Amino acid sequence: MTERLYYTDSYLSYVKARVVDADPAANILYLDRTPFYPTSGGQPHDLGTISGQPVLEVIDEGQRIAHRTAVPVSENMVECQIEWARRYDHMQQHTGQHVLSAVWMELFSIPTKSFHIGAENSTVELGARDLTDEQIERAEQRANQVAREGRLVSVSFDDSQMVTGLRKPSGRDGLLRIVTIDGLDRSACGGTHVGSTAEVVPIQIRRTEKIRGNVRLEFVCGARAERRARQDYRIVAELARLTAVGLDDLPEAVNKLRVRLTEVEKDKVRLSHEVGRLEATILSTETRPSEDGIRRVALNVLTIDDAARVKAQTFVSHTKSVLLMTSTSQSGVLVACSADSGLNAGAILRDALAQTGGRGGGTATLAQGNVSDPTLTALLEEALGFSS
Ligand SMILES: [Zn+2]
Repeated sequence: MTERLYYTDSYLSYVKARVVDADPAANILYLDRTPFYPTSGGQPHDLGTISGQPVLEVIDEGQRIAHRTAVPVSENMVECQIEWARRYDHMQQHTGQHVLSAVWMELFSIPTKSFHIGAENSTVELGARDLTDEQIERAEQRANQVAREGRLVSVSFDDSQMVTGLRKPSGRDGLLRIVTIDGLDRSACGGTHVGSTAEVVPIQIRRTEKIRGNVRLEFVCGARAERRARQDYRIVAELARLTAVGLDDLPEAVNKLRVRLTEVEKDKVRLSHEVGRLEATILSTETRPSEDGIRRVALNVLTIDDAARVKAQTFVSHTKSVLLMTSTSQSGVLVACSADSGLNAGAILRDALAQTGGRGGGTATLAQGNVSDPTLTALLEEALGFSS
C-alpha cells in the first residue's frame, strides 16, 4: 500500500522514498510513500521527476500508486520532486471548485454533478436545466467574497457512518477523507487543496453550455484567472485599436461596423446587377443580327451568378435575341431566348441534357444546367441556330 503524502500535506513537493516494487518493462515504479497525485476525481496527475527522470503518468490502482517514468529508474531509494507550478494550479482550481459548488448550493440549491480540471479551463456540471446571467453574477460575487475572507481549508479523516454535514453524500464505506472549508463546505474528496480560500482569488466564471440536460460551467481560479483576464484585456485592447475607439465604446462600434458591412454588401450586389444590365445593353447594341434577324451571343464566364443572370435577362429583353453562357470553372450552362425569337430556352436545354446527361431546366426565356461539356455546348449552339 502506498502512503499518500498529499492526503495530509498538499504543499509537500519533495521527498525521499523507497522503491517497493517495479515493472521495468513498463518503466513503472511503486514507492512506499509518494507526494505524487494520481489522476482521479476530475483532477489530473502531477508531473515532476523521480531521481531526476521525468514522470509521465501517475495511476491510482486502489491500494497502490503506479509512477510511470520516461526512462527506467534502477535505484532503491529515490528522490521525488513534483512540478510545483502545476500542482499549485490544480490546488487553486480544486479548492475554487469546492467554493463555487458550495455557493451554487447555498444560493440556488443547485448541486454539482461532476468536476474536471482541463489544461485551460476547469468545469463543473451543475444539476440545472438553465442558468440566468443574474444567477451567474451572484454566484461569482458570493464565491469571491467568501474566498477573500481567507477561510481555513482543512482535512480530516472520518468514519463514513459517523460523518455529518456533507454537501453531497459519499457512496464509500470506511474511513473518508473530508475537506472542510470553514463555515461553508464539507466534502468527501481525495484531491489536493490550498490551506486558505484567500489563495484561490479571483474566481472567474466564464462560459456556460447546456449538456445532458444540465449546465456545464467553465471557470478559472487564482493565477489562471489572472492570466485569462490579462489575455482578455489584450484581445479587447487590440480590437479597440483596430476600430479606433475606447474600450467601453467597443460594442457600439462593432455593431455599427456590422450594420455598415450589411449595407455595403447590399450595395455591392445592386452595383453588380447594374453593371450586368449595362454590359448587356452594350452587347446588344454591338451585336449584328444574323440573316434571320436574331442577335446571338455566346459567352464564357467565371461563374453563372446573380449578376450573370441579370446580364442574360437584360440581353434577351431586347427583341430577337439569344444568349448562351457557359462556365467552365464552375460547370454550368445558361440559355436565354427573347419571347419573339421563336426559340424555347427550357425545352432546348432539356433536350440537349437528355443526350449528354446532367440536371437543369427553366422557362422558355431562361434556363440553367449544372454541366459544362463541349458536346452539350455544340448541341445547344446548333439548336439555337449559332452555326447557321
Ligand atoms: Zn474535491
